[in-house]
Amino acid sequence: MTPGALIIEGCSIVTVDQARTEHARGFVVVRDGVIAEVGHGSPPADGRTAGARRVDGTGCVLTPGLVNTHHHLYQWATRGLAVDATLFGWLTHLYPIWAGLDVEVLESAATGALAWLVRTGCTTTTDHHYVFPRDGGDLLAAEIRAAGSVGVRFHPTRGSMDLGQRDGGLPPDHVVEDRDAILAATQDAIDRHHDPSPGSMVRVGVAPCSPFSVTRELMVEAAELARRAGVRLHTHLAETIDEDDFCRERFGCSPAEYMAELGWLGPDVWFAHAVHLSDQDVASFGDTGTGVAHCPSSNARLGAGVARTRDLRDAGVPVGLGVDGAASNEASSLVEELRHAVLFARARAGPTALSVRDGLELATIGGARVLGREDEIGSIEVGKLADLALWRVDTIRHADIEDPIAALVLGAPPPLELLLVGGRPVVEHDRVVTVDEEVAARRAVSARDTLRARVRSEP
Ligand SMILES: [Zn+2]
Repeated sequence: MTPGALIIEGCSIVTVDQARTEHARGFVVVRDGVIAEVGHGSPPADGRTAGARRVDGTGCVLTPGLVNTHHHLYQWATRGLAVDATLFGWLTHLYPIWAGLDVEVLESAATGALAWLVRTGCTTTTDHHYVFPRDGGDLLAAEIRAAGSVGVRFHPTRGSMDLGQRDGGLPPDHVVEDRDAILAATQDAIDRHHDPSPGSMVRVGVAPCSPFSVTRELMVEAAELARRAGVRLHTHLAETIDEDDFCRERFGCSPAEYMAELGWLGPDVWFAHAVHLSDQDVASFGDTGTGVAHCPSSNARLGAGVARTRDLRDAGVPVGLGVDGAASNEASSLVEELRHAVLFARARAGPTALSVRDGLELATIGGARVLGREDEIGSIEVGKLADLALWRVDTIRHADIEDPIAALVLGAPPPLELLLVGGRPVVEHDRVVTVDEEVAARRAVSARDTLRARVRSEP
């Protein structure tokens, strides 16, 4: 069903188009789920807009919907654990709990995570799911159902781990899978769920988990599979010093050099984190068009470091933002990642490292580039999908801040007046309208309790 025509008027508009056009007071007309008109002043009063729903955007700023380039939705059921640990310590604490995942737990966790994510301005999100316990059921289908019910544009990736402790990896052996089974399940996920058509709501990617939980053979074969199928490739990379040490000890090179050796650089690849990179690594990402999902809050939560956002952008690397899994970013607020990205970049590289408008660019067109969808989403332009976020900036939080982008990026997270995905309202007046938030919260509590009970009942 195509949503009806809709006009948003009276708001300031930040288009993030090529010319970085902004309107102090403007309008957008949405028809058939697509942006039909954008302009300053008032919308044309002619027959083309008759019967359209009109949204008064007075006191608001309209931006493109935000794009989240890295997440682990299942972690919504394990927030607030190992809160003072390093990455490897945190993972070691959580793997046994995650081993209890099944369809019901994942669908509840994903619904909660996504219902909150849309509240924070997200219209397109990825997910990196890599824990597939035996007898867990069809987990990817469960999270795709959750995304469908919330109404968010979804890029799930079929993750995997095949390097257990027995073989020198970090995860316990009972949460890793057999390589042939992984490749078969990945192909099956693409065959059943990947929709390459324009305006697609579901696109599947291939995402072995990380250099310290995946064998060299799986990395290579997963890349071959993804390229045969024409889908994108994703993994964690260069997140911590511990990972850097692991790679140098086991492979004799840095994580980024290891990826180059495996054929894992290219415009169809994006890495989460990419914190610990040499100048040469940054240049090689730029030369090959390899993308980065920058996750500032998660990196700070785990004390991993601060990514070289400015250098990556200068090298021409596509950079988007990610909240990362909710177990290492309990807030999971995409709009807050803008603020952290800007502040951390400046803390690392000085006051001119990243402007507030650069921050918004990372979260919109930057993320769209990372996912290969810059022709469809990430900016407010005629012909693009109507994925739009209308933020209220006239309350006590922001009313006296004249520049609406400064209000959005540097101020407190604003209430979300309206969020459209393909022209369909998903959030209105700062409430999710597609699913019941209270029910989603209660289901997340029972998902958490189920996982805990399963750990206790382990022999
Ligand atoms: Zn992650």
